Amino acid sequence: MKISFHGADREVTGSCHLVEAKDKRILIDCGMYQGSSDLDDANADSFGFDPGSIDFLLLTHAHLDHCGRIPLLVKHGFTGEIITTAATRELARLVMLDAAHLHEEEAEHHARHAHRGGDTARRPLYDTADAFNALGHFGRTAVYGEPVMLTPTLHATFYDAGHILGSASIRIECTQEPNRSVIFSGDLGTSGRAILRDPQIPPPANVVVMETTYGDRVHKELALSVGELYAAINDTFARGGNVVIPTFALERAQEILYYLREGIESGRLPHSMPVYLDSPMAVSATEVFRRHPECFSPKERALFEDGKDPFSLPGLHFTRDTADSIALNMLDGGAVIMAGSGMCTGGRVRHHLLHNLARHDSSVIFVGYAARGTLARVLIDGAKQVTLFGESVPVRARLHTINGFSAHADRDELLAWHRALKPARTVLVHGDEDVMQQFASSLEDTEVHMPRRGDEFLV
Ligand code: ZN
Repeated sequence: MKISFHGADREVTGSCHLVEAKDKRILIDCGMYQGSSDLDDANADSFGFDPGSIDFLLLTHAHLDHCGRIPLLVKHGFTGEIITTAATRELARLVMLDAAHLHEEEAEHHARHAHRGGDTARRPLYDTADAFNALGHFGRTAVYGEPVMLTPTLHATFYDAGHILGSASIRIECTQEPNRSVIFSGDLGTSGRAILRDPQIPPPANVVVMETTYGDRVHKELALSVGELYAAINDTFARGGNVVIPTFALERAQEILYYLREGIESGRLPHSMPVYLDSPMAVSATEVFRRHPECFSPKERALFEDGKDPFSLPGLHFTRDTADSIALNMLDGGAVIMAGSGMCTGGRVRHHLLHNLARHDSSVIFVGYAARGTLARVLIDGAKQVTLFGESVPVRARLHTINGFSAHADRDELLAWHRALKPARTVLVHGDEDVMQQFASSLEDTEVHMPRRGDEFLV
């Protein structure tokens, strides 16, 4: 068995790894690079292998940095089978179509400016038709714990990674002598989450390829973060303002809805509190959650099957149409508005910030990761003034940053997962280089690798 690395090498985006076993070529994830403009440009680079030579693509989960380049892979000749869990398949559909739409918008925007500046037009990285073509390659769906046969002697088993709905760690095993196996962690979640199960530990393997996103820190306790969320909302309502929560459409939006419902049911939040989920993608993702209770924790699944919907709040409104979204600008106070994008780089949340940032009585609550250079990061870092739609907006609203809602395992959880597997060799991916170095120094009794793009080694 041979593994090579084609992304997420000493960085957190662009996951893409290749396994060659017997005469089959198996790709694990095909994600988008995200962050700086250099990384954006890397998305158009060659893959480092021939897409037409790949037999199978196994997808760990539906985040863009794991599935975002699939339409491009298909556009460049991939004709194999894409295998993932049923929930990931539905979520990846949303994510790839949304990404295609954004690429089309960017290309149009660029074309308008290029025309004026005499520059040449740029084609979108891929378009909606490419995303639909990619959907045609999704084949069998994987059930957690049940091997999917790639050949009679080569199989892949998906284990619940507890990161987002449908997420998986994948163990590939070649049963022909000599028996060899490798585990790809995918992104690992934290234990004790609202809806999902805790991450599962797969059976051991010769090599473990694992993520290290938060390999250098320990998360704050979740209950404290939930308490901070309730306090910030109650405090804002007492002042008469609105609460704006910039939200990622997958998982985070559903978790926040879940905690708002719990807050109302336990009397810690006002019963009649209006909540607006102003994100078509988050609304669609919430529907996908409802279709996949098989991914819920046993407790949540039992409640759901008893007719209790984890996302059902008395005052919840879903806004899909732009007109309904614009109507939210008229809200005087007393409402919670959740909208994307999570890092405020685009999307409807920017309109809500325009209408609420200058108000002393309103609040903005950040509940997710904010990369350097994004509007969310600028606000968190204490900007007194920001520009939105060409208008200079003073920041008078109260800002809260609540860090405990992470969908990623922290250092201690990553170490415990690794300790349970005891692999002879460990490959670190999906982490910043300094974090990776620190994490590597905590690992015992294993040979550690930190590959660069294009590196390969034999299992
Ligand atoms: Zn992820």
